[in-house]
Amino acid sequence: MEEKRERVNIAELFGENVFGDRVMRERLPKAVYQRVREMMTEGYELEPAIADSVAQAMKEWAVENGATHYTHWFQPLSGVAAEKHDSFLSGVDAEGRALLEFSGKNLVRSEADASSFPSGGLRATFEARGYTVWDCTSPAFLRKEGDCVTLCIPTAFCAYAGEALDQKTPLLRSMQVLNREALRILKLFGIDDAKWVKPSVGAEQEYFLIDREKYLKRKDLIYTGRTLFGSMPAKGQELDDHYFGVLRKRIAAFMRDVDMELWKLGVSAKTEHNEVAPCQHELAPIFEEANLAVDHNQLTMEILQKQAGRHGLECLLHEKPFAGVNGSGKHNNWSVSTDTGLNLLNPGKRPHENQLFLLTLACVLAAVDTHADLLRLSAANVGNDHRLGADEAPPAIISCFLGSQLEDIVAQIIETGVASSSLSGKSLETHVDTLPNLYADVTDRNRTSPFAFTGNKFEFRMVGSGDSIASANIVLNTILAEQFRLAADRLEQASSVKEAAWELIRELLSKHQRIVFNGNGYSEEWVQEAARRGLPNLKSSIDAIPAFTSKKAVELFSAFGIYSETELKSRSIVAYENYAKRINIESRAMINISGKQLIPAAIHYVTRLATSVNQVKSACAAADVSAQEDLLLRASELLSDMKRSREKLQSDTDLAASIQDPAARAAAYHTQIVADMRILRESADALETVIDKDLWPLPSYGDMLFEVSEP
Ligand code: ADP
Ligand code: MG
Repeated sequence: MEEKRERVNIAELFGENVFGDRVMRERLPKAVYQRVREMMTEGYELEPAIADSVAQAMKEWAVENGATHYTHWFQPLSGVAAEKHDSFLSGVDAEGRALLEFSGKNLVRSEADASSFPSGGLRATFEARGYTVWDCTSPAFLRKEGDCVTLCIPTAFCAYAGEALDQKTPLLRSMQVLNREALRILKLFGIDDAKWVKPSVGAEQEYFLIDREKYLKRKDLIYTGRTLFGSMPAKGQELDDHYFGVLRKRIAAFMRDVDMELWKLGVSAKTEHNEVAPCQHELAPIFEEANLAVDHNQLTMEILQKQAGRHGLECLLHEKPFAGVNGSGKHNNWSVSTDTGLNLLNPGKRPHENQLFLLTLACVLAAVDTHADLLRLSAANVGNDHRLGADEAPPAIISCFLGSQLEDIVAQIIETGVASSSLSGKSLETHVDTLPNLYADVTDRNRTSPFAFTGNKFEFRMVGSGDSIASANIVLNTILAEQFRLAADRLEQASSVKEAAWELIRELLSKHQRIVFNGNGYSEEWVQEAARRGLPNLKSSIDAIPAFTSKKAVELFSAFGIYSETELKSRSIVAYENYAKRINIESRAMINISGKQLIPAAIHYVTRLATSVNQVKSACAAADVSAQEDLLLRASELLSDMKRSREKLQSDTDLAASIQDPAARAAAYHTQIVADMRILRESADALETVIDKDLWPLPSYGDMLFEVSEP
């Protein structure tokens, strides 16, 4: 029977679980409300009296909505959001009634025993103090799990001495410096009315959905998020029949629930569609300021996973859950705008005359060229190593796609110092009388570029699907701030800003034009060409991690107060440790699954086959049993290969795990263990194609990718 569902009113639902502007206006004394608004938009520190008043209103609102607990919600370097729950209960009065308390102090600061979070040596275990501090620019929200309601307060997480132990602190620092330097540029261009400049971000999230029942039968998915074994089914994604395909009923119902939950949390989920690989989907929100976009993307990942469970599905956020079909990423759309609505990356109708836009563009290109290694690093993780450089996601080489219009303008400026015209879009003839002719965009898209200009924003396409988008935005904001600072320093000295700006634009474009590439980023020729241009090609995370502590990075980040040298060192250690740990888990999972499930299945199969050969022979001595014997031979061979490579993996992993130095340990996992894992997988996957399906203990790729059951 068709389930009857309530009608949804988005306007009423939106932000229902958020202590946002509407609730604050209703519940806070007018003067307090105004002060809080100012603090949120202009970034003052919160006064204790104001904090108390906000805390009081927040608690009342939360308790009225059924909340019993509150938590400081933060994003430590483990990459997963963390929280510590406290109830509102503060004591009992003389008559035995519960006293509820939530003060400004509770709201603003909390001490979390931080010793178990990764700190890369910033803090020894005996110096366990860590503090979470309210980020008043990201509103508190209610998390509802059935009857359990919790007030979640977005916070930054710092060590006792003030070093950042999270992603939010450096992100906020980077937004602050970008604001400061961009305002200087605006001023030079006579724009005085803007109070602030902020980066806007919209993150398109890709993910896979498979049957939860099948997921639970695969320990590799459970422990590592990806399949460590599995041979390709007869069909993959070659027909492109999944991309933008009609949503199956069950998936459509799932997406509807995801949207509703996100809307209630004030996340403006907008576009949902099927992606290239079977069972792969995408969700895109409407863009918003970077800090909110980062928090909201964390919430999106959380909601996707929770809702999947409710629909009997499992949401896989890993960058490469299945070998042989596309992996998942996150497109980080990024632009820079003022409170007055001016987007510095909007070329307008006559881009060749828009000097502010062209200067911003030149600064972005200079920034990306100078710090391509840092951008690459910001997308480095173990899962993404399977994607970047493979024929699907952007290559590991950073380049910028500008499109024909901007490329033409750039060429004009480099040649003559100014640009005198802009190519315009053409009319697109449909040749059907009943269809209108269209006005085509000036530039086509380029799906192979890691950093593409798309109309009024750049789209950084390298970030992994399971990762926070914070690192990418920290780097983008900081490197643009650096170029803005250099530009402002120079233009502020000039007698004619206009002339000096043209000169600077030309200089930057000429110097950094090597970063512009409009061709096919997946091709081998590009790899060669990029090498000729001297662009870095950091193929794996291990190659990318040293960028954290290069002289250039230390100078950049310390000059802007984003990270101290100590913080950078700690982050590189965390990255090495994380790499080694994750490969170690994958290796141990393979050793386990092959030892406990696959080898026994293969033994069972060959024994059964041998018995049957004997039985056939004894029933009919002349019978041709060559087919069975061939299979027996092949399966036994693969079985012995599998056993041997499993043992090698085991001993090599033990050896790698014993290496003390984090960088050397990670390198050993990268070279030796990854190679051993590949060899073990080869024999196992070959066996899967030989052995009876009913004997193979793991759901196959075909079962998972093509048979999502409809309830
Ligand atoms: P596509 O990737 O197909 O170009 P859209 O143009 O719809 O798709 O945008 C994708 C994402 O980019 C969405 O999340 C959207 O909100 C975001 N976006 C659009 N304009 C901007 C902007 N100026 N700054 C940052 N993000 C933006
Ligand atoms: Mg996109």
